[in-house]
This record gives sequence, structure tokens and C-alpha cells, in this order.
Amino acid sequence: MLLQGLRESWDLDSIFSGGSRSEEFLTAISNIEAQLAALNKKIENFQLDSMEAVVKDVQETAALLNECISFVGCLTAQDVNDKQALTLRGKLESMNAIYCTILVLLDNKMAEIPDGDWNKALEGEYLSSVAFSLNERRNLASQKLSYEQEALMNDLAVDGYHSWSTLYDTVVGKIGIEVEQNGKKETLSVGQAENRMTSADRQERETVFTKYTEAWAQQGDYCAEALNHIAGFRNSVYRHRQWDDVLKEPLDINRMSADTLNAMWQAIDENKNLFVSYLDRKASLLGLEKLSWHDVDAPLSSADSKMSYDEAANFIVEQFQSFSPKMAEFSKKAFEKQWIEAEDRTGKRPGGFCTGFPVKNETRIFMTFSGTPSNVSTLAHELGHAFHSHVMDDMPYLATEYAMNVAETASTFAELVVSDAAVRNAKTKEEKIALLEDKAQRSVAFFMNIHARFLFETRFYEERKKGLVSVERLNELMTEAQKEAFCNSLESYHPYFWASKLHFYITDVPFYNFPYTFGYLFSACIYAIAKQEGSSFEEKYIALLRDTASMTVEELAMKHLNEDVTKPAFWKKGVEVAMEDVTEFLELTK
Ligand SMILES: [Zn+2]
Repeated sequence: MLLQGLRESWDLDSIFSGGSRSEEFLTAISNIEAQLAALNKKIENFQLDSMEAVVKDVQETAALLNECISFVGCLTAQDVNDKQALTLRGKLESMNAIYCTILVLLDNKMAEIPDGDWNKALEGEYLSSVAFSLNERRNLASQKLSYEQEALMNDLAVDGYHSWSTLYDTVVGKIGIEVEQNGKKETLSVGQAENRMTSADRQERETVFTKYTEAWAQQGDYCAEALNHIAGFRNSVYRHRQWDDVLKEPLDINRMSADTLNAMWQAIDENKNLFVSYLDRKASLLGLEKLSWHDVDAPLSSADSKMSYDEAANFIVEQFQSFSPKMAEFSKKAFEKQWIEAEDRTGKRPGGFCTGFPVKNETRIFMTFSGTPSNVSTLAHELGHAFHSHVMDDMPYLATEYAMNVAETASTFAELVVSDAAVRNAKTKEEKIALLEDKAQRSVAFFMNIHARFLFETRFYEERKKGLVSVERLNELMTEAQKEAFCNSLESYHPYFWASKLHFYITDVPFYNFPYTFGYLFSACIYAIAKQEGSSFEEKYIALLRDTASMTVEELAMKHLNEDVTKPAFWKKGVEVAMEDVTEFLELTK
């Protein structure tokens, strides 16, 4: 084996030594405070000829601020009881809010500059490297209200808009779902109940789902209140800015056009038949006429092959090698230099993430590895994120801030490479079926579940313009959206999904759904092209990743893939990658 005896815990000392008591870290935090104050002064007295100096300072401060935010994120994840880290995190969060306000001031100063002078200033070598980001900020500022009005709105949003989201979290935190099993009564949290709903025992899934729905119905009024006010606030802001379309802001954030979004959903819609066949087959394998909502994510078997951490590392590096030797080499380095925290122990935060250190040009990956195929996929996924940031190491900070839809491109691509190889290498038929089923289930989540969220959310926001939307109507809208997205293929649906899905209550980012499907499908399209082109694809792929924060997605695909993402034909290539898995699954389970 290439990699042997790997350590499963990460090394954070090479960033700031000494953990949450690090002197170096505290010094960096006070440096940022001083830099923010100086930057604010500079921008208040902004003149066009000082723009280069201001942008330099912005990038330097942003990089250091993000270095520290990443570091404290790692500290709080590795030990949820690190009180000192939690205190520092609070401090950095408020510093980040100050940074954002300072940038809004800069955006407005830039919007005041006449076009001719502005374009001339951006021709200089330094500013031209971040011209896309600066133009984008300036354009958006000119479409918003005045600086004073926007600043007042942001201030009021803290105790208005955002607090509805906090209130929702409080309601969810108090929910207890009482279930009885084998004569034993217990109270489950929402998260625990959701885990039980993927149990292999159908009786258990059904009982828990019924109780779970009752619990949401009880809190329905509070959730509806919160959701109506979040949407109401957003609609009012858009009305004042004279933005007619609720999708304008989310599309802007993801640097994509409505045509692209529509083409993506169209390609999915036109090819749903096969996924319906998969759901039907799954029903018959479970001995059912049709699946109910709580059967969609049920496991088919317990065939699970485990890998050691060393084996997983070698497997991943080997598979990456065939697509991109640079990605393989980078991943090998990440394993050897202990950039990954994978140890299976208590006291860690659940879930996985990848975080970047733009000053040191390093990344760290966090997860809990217990050897399952899904752990191996997660590890590959996070290494994909890390590689994306690695290929941008030498770029200016403002040219590295890519949006959520393309952020999931490198990660899902890496995951696809590894999960496809796992299917090919499966030792038994059962193992192969289990791996394929896992992939098909993911496609159903992106093509059907997230599609339902999108249909519901856009329709709800339209209705909300006319007034408050009742619990009964929300249930109706949700059920209609689910039936449509799942092509009427299920026996029963989840009317209270609008209450139980926290994504609808996120106020930092509007419409937190379609970027997931975009990332999944965009990377599948890239994967299809990569398989066709072979080894020559690597350079093209890296060039595409480097441009992810410097142009719109339409320009990105045209420049690097010669593809038109506003047309369904492009997206169909990605859907076909997912269809291959389902076809093989249907073949093997005949
Ligand atoms: Zn990801």
C-alpha cells in the first residue's frame, strides 16, 4: 500500500499552535480588529485613485478574518465542549458582521463612480484580476436602495427577519416525540426520530412517522407564523427595491440566469420515468404495492462492506489518479500532512466539512470515519472541496469566493469518481445492489425531493404576496408539490414537510434548495465529459475550477466545456449519468 499507518486526527498547530489558548491566534484576532477600523476610515474617505490600495486592504483583511473563522470552526468541531473556542467564535462572528457592513459602504462608494472612470480604473493589472467580483458588487448596489436605507433594514432585520428563524429553532428544540416500542416508552428529539424513520423495520418507520407528523401538526401554527413572516419580510424588501421576481436574489447569488434554472428542471422533468421505475422496484423489493413517504429512504439490505482508514485513503488516491494525477497527488499530501480529522470518538460535532486557510494556503477536512461506504464517499467529497481551493491558492481573495452551486461541483465530482469505482469493485451482487441503491436514492433526493421544495417555495412566496397563508393551505401546497415532483408515484406524502424542513427557515441565504441539484448535476455533466476525453481533461478541469468565482455559470460552461447551460440538452448529459446507475439496479434486481 502506498499510504500506511496514517494518523486519523488532524494537525492544527501548523495554522496556530496551542489550540484555543494560542497566543498567535489571539494576536491575529486583535490584528483584524485594528485592520477593520483602519479599513472603515479609508472607505469613508474613499477616492477613485485610492481604490487599488483599498481593495488590497479588503483582500488582506478578508483572508485573515477567514483564516481565523476557519480555525475556530475546527476547534469547536473537534471538541464541542471547548468553551474558550465558543467565546472566540462569538467574537469572530461579530467581527465578520462589521466586515460585511464595511463592504456595503464600499459597494455604495463604487456605485457612485461614473461608468467611464470606473471601467478605466479596472483596466489596471491589479484590479482587473478581481474585476468580476467588483463589478458584481457595484451592479448589485446600484439595484438596491440607498446605503442608509439598506443599512437601516439590515439593522432592523436582526430583531425582525432573522429572529423568526431563531424562534423556529427554539420551537424545534422543544419538540419531543413520544414513541412506544416493545412496551418501553421513550421521547425522541426531531433528529433522533428522523434517524428512526430510515430503520429497516417498516413498522418502526411507520409508527415514528405518524408520531412525528402529529408533533409537527401541534406546532403548525408557530411554524406557519415564522414562515409567513420570513417570506413577508423578504417580499417587502424586494417590493421596496422594485424587484418583481422572488428568484432574482437567489439567482444573482448563484450567478446564474432563470433560463439556466428552467433548463435544468426541464431536463430532470423529461427524464423522471426511469426514477419512477426505480421507486416501483424498490416498493416490490420491500413487498409493497407502492412506497409511502417514509419508505423512500429505507435501506434494502444490510450488505455493508467496511474499509479501514488506510484502505480508504489508498482506494481514493488510486481512483483519483485515473482522472487527475494532480488531484491524487494533492490528496496523498492531505493524508500525509494530517489535514484530515477522521477519528471515531465522542465529543466531536456530527457531520463533515472542508474549510480553507487562505493565508497559509492549507485546508482541513472534518468528519467521523467508521469505515462504511458512505464514509468513504464523504471523505472523497471533502477532498474534492479541498482540491478546489488548492487550485486557487495563488489567486487574489476576491477571485476565490465561489457560490454554493459551483462549490458542490468539485466535491460531487470527486465523490462520483470514487462511488463509481466502488460499484465496479463490489465483491458480491448484494454489495453491488446496495451501492447502486445508495446512488439511486441520492438522485431521487436531488431530482424529486429538492424539486418538491423548489415548487412549494416559489408558489408559496407568490401566494404570500396576497396575504398570510394558513396551515391548511401550506399543507395543500406542499402535498401538491410532492405529488408533482414524485410523479404521483407514492402511496402517501408528507404535508407538514414545510414545517419540518429547516432549510425553509434559513434567513442568511434565500431559496436554499436548487443550488444542491445544480451542483449535483453540473458535476455529473463534467464527469460524463471527463470520461469521454480521458487524460487530456485534467488541465481543462483545473482551469474551470479556477474560474468558478470569476464569471457567470453560463460563461464558465461556454468557456471551458463549450456547452450552453441554458439548454436542457446540456443537463440531460448529467441526468443520464444518474440513469445508468438506475438501469443497472433494475437489471440486477429483476
Ligand atoms: Zn459539499
